[in-house]
Amino acid sequence: MNPQPTRRDLETRLAGAADQVPPAVQGVLARLAQAGHEAFLAGGCVRDILLRRVADDFDVATSARPDEVLRLFEHVVPTGIQHGTVTVILGREPHEKVEITTFRGEGEYLDGRRPESVRFLRDIEEDLARRDFTINAIAWNPLSGDVRDPFGGIGAIARRSIRAVGTPQERFREDGLRPLRAVRFASVLGFGIEEATRQAIGETLEVFRKVALERVRVELVKLLLGSARPSRGLNLCADTGLLGAFAPELLEGRGLAQNRYHRWDVWDHTMHVVDRSAPRLVVRLAALFHDVGKPRVAEVGPAGEPTFYSHEVVGAVLAEQILERLRFPRRTIDQVARQVREHNWHYTLEWNDGAVRRHLERVGVDALDDFFALREADIVGRGRQVQAGLKNLAELKARFLAEVEKESALEISDLAVGGREVMEALGQGPGPAVGETLRALLQHVLDHPEDNSRDKLLALVGERKRSSPS
Ligand code: ATP
Ligand code: MG
Repeated sequence: MNPQPTRRDLETRLAGAADQVPPAVQGVLARLAQAGHEAFLAGGCVRDILLRRVADDFDVATSARPDEVLRLFEHVVPTGIQHGTVTVILGREPHEKVEITTFRGEGEYLDGRRPESVRFLRDIEEDLARRDFTINAIAWNPLSGDVRDPFGGIGAIARRSIRAVGTPQERFREDGLRPLRAVRFASVLGFGIEEATRQAIGETLEVFRKVALERVRVELVKLLLGSARPSRGLNLCADTGLLGAFAPELLEGRGLAQNRYHRWDVWDHTMHVVDRSAPRLVVRLAALFHDVGKPRVAEVGPAGEPTFYSHEVVGAVLAEQILERLRFPRRTIDQVARQVREHNWHYTLEWNDGAVRRHLERVGVDALDDFFALREADIVGRGRQVQAGLKNLAELKARFLAEVEKESALEISDLAVGGREVMEALGQGPGPAVGETLRALLQHVLDHPEDNSRDKLLALVGERKRSSPS
């Protein structure tokens, strides 16, 4: 193991890191310099190189005005020209697109949501001053070796510490999203938040509450998918008051004790499940919300132990509400809500194949990978009887996969009849009765796969029609 690098070590690291900058990006920097402009890499990519992390995008900051940049490159798109940003396209690969932003300061943030105006500047240090955290306010030109670090960002990286540029309260009042970004960076990078910066989060919550929830969602997703242990950031969200502004329902699980099969209360269990879950969006969101319904249905059972009957049903509704609030795409919301709804039934060896197929249909074949990922994390996150739980899950998995391999009919599209034939048999046009009938046929076929033939199913439709004439 390397000891923790010092600031000096990091400066040396940066001086030798030019070869980590893609040739396309170096070319852009060289072109700007040839034309007499200043140009630097700045922000996340410099921070990530110092941390030996893979930088996702290399952002260039320059003294050249947007119109000057547009004239210098052949394939260039004015992607955010009102903010001074253009994108140079040098090839098809993502790393062959380079964003170039003119040095800028920001006018006043009047509403804590977005700056009212943008001013273009000729000086990189003023540009660095408008950035959120010192670790994100370092500029570096890999061609000349010029490093600008006016706020001590390299030292902050060495101390693994997040600190606002300037006065934290002021910076958080300008843009209410910054506190959540601080927490997100702490979680993803495994850093601490410097005391004054952390303090300011609680003191500016009313500004955070005004931030567009789409922006909150972006940071939450990065926190969940980018952190080795998202619980670090989620606990910070809970402790600082941020969580209360966008998902207060989750806070109800704090201190809520569970039954003897659980080692932790609802919140801490949830944190273990999120940490142990595969880093996929649907899985991590389902992990975060799988028990959100528990506080609403908690009761004390006969043996004095808490019970949470139907928490998966209540939880699916709450998860849907919260994800809608955060403007997640419909498909993601439906997938997560379904995982939450199906996370709580218990498989036993006595199940016949029909029961296995009915549960498989509820989960959905396409959602099986996510289902197993969540179930496994949930079992491990109980902290008790983990081996028995995993063995039970492996048995269920074997039976589910056996049905998938048998190509059993598991969806409406697997039925031997379609909507048109059902309409003919019912003697009516499109309407809710058609879907209802198809669903009833599927339920029948899940129990009696041998009946999945056209004649048999149409006979069943006939029977249904006679027994409930409309
Ligand atoms: P990553 O892309 O890994 O999430 P990043 O640091 O590149 O991290 P971005 O959101 O891509 O983050 O922003 C790029 C840079 O722009 C940041 O490093 C920071 O310097 C600046 N920045 C972004 N958002 C803000 C903000 N809300 N306030 C001030 N500066 C910001
Ligand atoms: Mg970035």
